[in-house]
Formats: sequence, C-alpha cells, structure tokens
Amino acid sequence: MNDFQYKGSDLYCEDVSVKDIAKFIGTPFYLYSYNTLKNHFRVFNSAFEGIPHLVCFAIKANSNIAILKIFAGEGGGFDVVSGGELYRALAAGADPQKIVYAGVGKTKEEIRFAIKSNILMFNVESSQELFAIDEVADELGVKAWVSLRVNPDIDAKTHPYISTGLKSHKFGISMSEALEGYKLANSLGNIEVVGIHKHIGSQITQVRPFVDALEKIVALIDQLRVEGLNIRYLDIGGGLGITYKDESPPNPKELAAELSPILKGTNCTIIFEPGRVIVGNAGALVTKVLYTKQSEGKNFVIVDAGMNDLVRPSFYGSYHSILPVNKNSDSHKIVADVVGPICESGDFLAKDRVLPDLKKDAIAAVMSAGAYGFTMSSNYNSRPRVPEILVKGDEFFVIRKRENYEDLVKGEEIPAFLK
Ligand SMILES: *Cc1c(COP(=O)(O)O)cnc(C)c1O
Repeated sequence: MNDFQYKGSDLYCEDVSVKDIAKFIGTPFYLYSYNTLKNHFRVFNSAFEGIPHLVCFAIKANSNIAILKIFAGEGGGFDVVSGGELYRALAAGADPQKIVYAGVGKTKEEIRFAIKSNILMFNVESSQELFAIDEVADELGVKAWVSLRVNPDIDAKTHPYISTGLKSHKFGISMSEALEGYKLANSLGNIEVVGIHKHIGSQITQVRPFVDALEKIVALIDQLRVEGLNIRYLDIGGGLGITYKDESPPNPKELAAELSPILKGTNCTIIFEPGRVIVGNAGALVTKVLYTKQSEGKNFVIVDAGMNDLVRPSFYGSYHSILPVNKNSDSHKIVADVVGPICESGDFLAKDRVLPDLKKDAIAAVMSAGAYGFTMSSNYNSRPRVPEILVKGDEFFVIRKRENYEDLVKGEEIPAFLK
C-alpha cells in the first residue's frame, strides 16, 4: 500500500495534489510520502515482533537525512556502507549503537571514524580488513565488535548487477573459508567476534533464496559455536523485492512466517537491513513533458528528467510505471519511448511503453522511484540535481533544495598558470 492515489482525475500524494507541488517547486523533483515511509517501516518491524531484533535501514537506498530521521524515530537503526553514510546517519540523530557497517573497501579513515563514533559492529568482508580494523582499534585502545559477512553461494534470482550471494561475487568470505576467518578474527587482540552477516542481493521476489541462504548460515553458526565462538548477532541483510510492474514478492509478514521459526532457533539477536522494500514505493520522480516528436513512425516523449536523475531504467533495464498527474479522460493511448535530455541513446525512462497521449507541458510521475533513485543520481551533462519533497497530510516540505549552477562548480579551481 502507498499514498499515491488519484482523487478524481488528479494524482495526489497523501492530501496534496502533485500538480500543486509542481506549480510551486517546478520540475523535475523527487516526491515522498511520510505516511507510506512510516507505515512501510512499521509493517516490516512488526512482522518480526516476538524475536529480539533490530531493523537497520540500508541508507544507500535513500539517504536523505529527513527520511533517515523518520526511521530513527521509529526505533530503527542503519546499515551503512561508507563514511559518508555514517555521517548522514549521525546527522539524522541515529543511535550509534544501532549502526552496522558493511562494504568490501572500508578505508582506515572510515574505520577510525566508525570506531570513534561507537557503532554497534562492522560486517567484515575479508581477512585483510580484519587486520586493518584490529590495527585501528589497537591505536584507539578499544575492542571493535565484528561479524563476518559470509557468502552462502545462493542464487538470489535477481538482476546480475544486484545479486551478491554467489561465490563468484566480490562480497564476503566464502563458506569454505569462514571457519578459518573466524579463527583469525578470534586471535586478534582488538577484535571481538559477536556475529555473522549475509546479504545475497536485492529485488528478490521469492522466499526460497532467503530460506536456503539462512539454512546454510544457521548450520555454520552451529559449527562456530562448537568451536567456542560466541555468535550472538545474526544479520540476514536486506533484499526483499517490491512490485514495480507485475512482480508479486512476499510481503514482510509472509517472509517472517517462513523465516521466524528458523531465526528463533538461533537464540541470536536478529538484524535486518531492508532498503528498497521500505522506500521504493514511497517515492516518485515528477517530470514535465518538454516536447513530443515522431520519428520514423516512433513516438518520443521528451521529458525534463533524465538518466542522471533516475538511472535505473538505463542501468538495469528497470521498469517504472509512468502516470499522468492529470488524467485526461478522452486521451487515447500511444506507444512511446519516454526519454530525457541527456546526450546518450541510453537515456530513457521507458521504452515502447503504452501511455496516455502526454502532450507538451503535461506532468507525469515516474513511480516506485523512492529507492536507488536520488541516491544514484548525478550531475552528468552538468544538470543540477533535483529537489526532494516530503508530503505529510496536506502539507509538503522541501527536504533537499534544487541545486543551482554555482553548486555545479563548487570546489573547482582554475590553477594560476591558466589565469
Ligand atoms: C544494498 C544492501 C542492503 C539493502 O538491500 P535492499 O535490496 O535495498 O533491501 C542491505 N544490506 C547490504 C549489505 C547492502 O549492500
């Protein structure tokens, strides 16, 4: 469920008409519903009530500090993958003891920042990283808590770019090397082994890969305990998919029904790292038709948002539904490519899409854009990044300003010899 609905012929986000926001803010912009964000977090969190757990929202899906603040207010923690994301979590008022830190390439500076910030734990992805954390922890005179990210060699059956749990992927430590890794971690003076971590990919629409991966990890936990390792946290990562078009992923309750019995048996505190499932359908990218044209019998709808604003269609071939902000009842349907202003043929938001005949100046909402939308946006073609708007009830708030031309050249300098 989400709070983007038509009232009459106008698309609304909660109780605000999208057209009115566009009039005030200009286009393009990202638009989020506070109510949907909060509800999605609550649905996920409550699905696992009865199990000691912590929901750590994966910041890379949507990192606006206003949005992070909503989840912090709901008791949520955060999964970070960089020093920058850690900075954002802290800026949003996160409890550092609810922050977990994953990623294959943590620098010493990032590790130092995380230890000084007193985060809950690192999810470690290699033995060299263990040595680096041990060294920094020694320097700071503390013991760093770690889980090892174990790669269960499970096919998440999703897009290859967002599948992470096969042994050919760069993530984590393989099952066969896990025991050795744990023994190494345990032997280091400034490391305390507290748990185990896995994350097998994103936009997973079946229960099976989650269960298969979990069963492998649980068997490993038993083995580690026999070896005397005190595994008390089990972090099962994120990855639950959403409906973009016609996918029917399990909802959090259905996933919980399958996983909870297995999770309970581990006597661990369970950590979840959902990203997409919380924010994906809570956001849209609102854009305006600049021009339309026909070329060789093909229709093009040229809009003011491009691949620099929402890269998923270009990068992954992703489908995003496109809705007119004003439904014109007598409008006939056309088949068109919806393309952006960027100088790349790969710059499209939809291909061969059946659409209402959107005319010049019509406004449209590219739906399901709340996850990996703004966070993957760039300034390519020197396009200022778009603003982010949060709706609550009948009010809306600018939670990130539109960039301007000065922002584009910020930090750039012409050296003296060129002056
Ligand atoms: C990306 C990522 C997530 C979130 O994935 P979603 O598919 O958005 O739920 C969770 N954990 C880790 C380690 C990640 O890299």
